[in-house]
Amino acid sequence: MANKIQLKMFRFTAEELEKHDIGDATFDGVKCGCCNWRVSRLFVLARTREEALETIKEYGGLCGECMADMLVEDADKHEIYYIPKEESQ
Ligand SMILES: [Zn+2]
Repeated sequence: MANKIQLKMFRFTAEELEKHDIGDATFDGVKCGCCNWRVSRLFVLARTREEALETIKEYGGLCGECMADMLVEDADKHEIYYIPKEESQ
């Protein structure tokens, strides 16, 4: 466990991201940082919600499909922990 970082999956709606003035986010869509499709929600892996927002600001977030692809393709690199809803946000 020593060298592993525990990450949680965070989800942001386009509307939320617009409020944080993120990239091209509008109330009804935001661009996925991978496939460039405009989607209603972005996902990001981070330690905290604040860190997740910073990550989206700097690198963009991923749509559901790209996030799922990343988890499949990087399965040997990342160890994902499931955090029950009441413990995450
Ligand atoms: Zn995508």
